[in-house]
Amino acid sequence: TLQGKTAVITGSNSGIGLGVARELARAGADIVLNSFTDRDEDHALAAAIGSEFGVTARYVAADMSKAGDCRALIESAGTCDILVNNAGIQHVAPIDEFPADKWDAIIAINMNSAFHTTAAALPKMRAAGWGRVVNIASAHGLTASPYKSAYVAAKHGVVGLTKVTALETAEEPITANAICPGYVLTPLVEAQIPDTMEKYCMGREEVIKKVMLDRQPSREFATVEQLGGTTVFLCSDAAAQITGTTISVDGGWTAL
Ligand code: NAD
Repeated sequence: TLQGKTAVITGSNSGIGLGVARELARAGADIVLNSFTDRDEDHALAAAIGSEFGVTARYVAADMSKAGDCRALIESAGTCDILVNNAGIQHVAPIDEFPADKWDAIIAINMNSAFHTTAAALPKMRAAGWGRVVNIASAHGLTASPYKSAYVAAKHGVVGLTKVTALETAEEPITANAICPGYVLTPLVEAQIPDTMEKYCMGREEVIKKVMLDRQPSREFATVEQLGGTTVFLCSDAAAQITGTTISVDGGWTAL
């Protein structure tokens, strides 16, 4: 059980971050939800998780594209025993047409934020005598696809940062690992299905299996619950000697 531990999950008002937050709360951890939006429903979402699982859960607005916000998020959490770096965005374009501002935003949100939050969280983990850093990278942290230069660069960078974090904490009761999901059915991905159906003149199932899951041998999406469960495992005693590595949750993508 993670009772008494506080988990900060960046970018957790939807998708994988929310799924991870819910599974950590189910395991007993107190939760800090985050996004940059600061809407009433973000605060309500935290309150609902708190009452569903009987833990303390709150929402803290912070923009993960800004170094100061990243560090302020960790400071406002008080303790930070579990840090899940999940916030991320995507943009798809060939390198020679890739907008420089999109490149900068993806590198900032998907990679730099993990550096700033980790830097702010490690002293808290050391003071508490226990810590877990879980970086949500991607199959694109290990392999590449055309037109995703910034995303692939950022995710490879996150995998590298994970290894360095692990080495710098190797002799302490702190671990750092990256989870590398393949395709996960989040609201973001769900929203792409209708357009893709139209583009390829295919039905829903055909689009999912032949287009979206083309590189995922299982032909099944990973779920946010499975990613939450993997995170809970990395926070368990069984995983105390797992550090500096990647766990793929990708239906065989990286085996191809
Ligand atoms: P999503 O769009 O549902 O979630 C992204 C989250 O990041 C949201 O909560 C959003 O509010 C937050 N966010 C975006 N910009 C932010 C900012 N500037 N500051 C703070 N929060 C911000 O997408 P998702 O699919 O759940 O993705 C979550 C993570 O998982 C990302 O890092 C993504 O790269 C990674 N991932 C997703 C998939 C997939 O198939 N869905 C696969 C591999 C990796």
